[in-house]
Amino acid sequence: MTETSPARPANTGVRQTRPRTEGWTQKKDAEGRPLLQFASPKRGKPPVHLADMTPPERVEKVKELGLPGFRAKQLSTHYFTHYTSDPAEMTDLPAAQREELVAGMLPPLLTEVRQLKTDRGDTIKFLWRLHDGALVESVLMRYPGRITLCVSSQAGCGMNCPFCATGQAGLTRNMSTAEIIEQIVRANRLIAEGGLGGKKSDDHSMERVSNIVFMGMGEPLANYKRVMDAVRIMVADQPNGLGMSARGITVSTVGLVPAIRKLSDEGIPVTFALSLHAPDDHLRDELIPVNSKWKVDEALDAAREYYEKTGRRVSIEYALIKDMNDHGWRADLLAEKLNERGRGWVHVNPIPLNPTPESVWTASTREVTNEFVRRLNDAGIPTTLRDTRGKEIDGACGQLVATTEDEAAAAQLG
Ligand code: SAH
Repeated sequence: MTETSPARPANTGVRQTRPRTEGWTQKKDAEGRPLLQFASPKRGKPPVHLADMTPPERVEKVKELGLPGFRAKQLSTHYFTHYTSDPAEMTDLPAAQREELVAGMLPPLLTEVRQLKTDRGDTIKFLWRLHDGALVESVLMRYPGRITLCVSSQAGCGMNCPFCATGQAGLTRNMSTAEIIEQIVRANRLIAEGGLGGKKSDDHSMERVSNIVFMGMGEPLANYKRVMDAVRIMVADQPNGLGMSARGITVSTVGLVPAIRKLSDEGIPVTFALSLHAPDDHLRDELIPVNSKWKVDEALDAAREYYEKTGRRVSIEYALIKDMNDHGWRADLLAEKLNERGRGWVHVNPIPLNPTPESVWTASTREVTNEFVRRLNDAGIPTTLRDTRGKEIDGACGQLVATTEDEAAAAQLG
């Protein structure tokens, strides 16, 4: 107990659990600190796909394949509007060259291993196999008035947070722009076919994913370029992109400060979320290993700058872990640090910890959770508990990981 924060009560009756892993070994670097992997290990690149290219590049590629450039627009319409990569459905393309054109422009990227459903079909977790056998997941959720897809940006994750299942196996590789986009296209296809339950009407043809959260596997800002190219395609008008609203896209990060600054200057008003989880460096150093590089105050300053540059209110994520980070004084310290940086620029989104395999920690009790939320709200920080979905299918935040069962199912595909 070496905490010296003035916000902490002198009375040490407060229980403090330490972030120690049990049942699995956290990878360490040469100095014995939790390993951070920023660079993607070298693996065979996924095939280049229409969604990896800008509109002029698509035209060029179609010409290379021996067809007039305007065919690129037709292919884009099939892909981004009808969500299809099946040459048989593209009757407006010359039959003789269709197969070759589609093979060159829309190569298969994600093989569906399986789907798991819960909430009466309103939540679906997809397990995908990538071209090199890497496994990733996405989670589709129907809410009243919106459909949200939680996408992965990396196979695995290099940020090594001890309470998150994805980090335990480390980073396999960055996903390509098209691999990120394809998760949305496949979800839209399923919705259009009526595969996402919960709606009374039979006509799902006009429905599609309205919100994207980069809260699946991976640290999106560690795969910056591909993630931003994917965001640009999400917001580009149809047929060149998915025609989505930037406000409905949430980029969530552990706090890679230089990348947050870059994001602020992109001129794309996405929603920005910072996974803070502790207001004091003493605890955050252990809970979020990247805190060894960028401290709480630096991450909060960068978040505040995001608000100043974009006018978008930022979101602070805080997984409430029993006796770890859920103390009243930490709620007060968090409120203090946020209020120090101004009013009205931020809201807090606590989420009760979701269980992960071998985890020794549990979610905070309801009373402690309510008290944490109350203290923030009383201090003038809008705070709402995050609705967590998909726990029953290990599809909730922090639970996405390729299990041995998943590997076995993927191997069955041959
Ligand atoms: N790497 C990014 C995005 C992926 S995680 C990030 O860290 O922000 C999406 C959110 O789920 C993050 O806020 C993350 O901290 C949170 N999370 C991770 N493990 C969790 C768990 N076991 N229970 C609840 N939330 C968790």
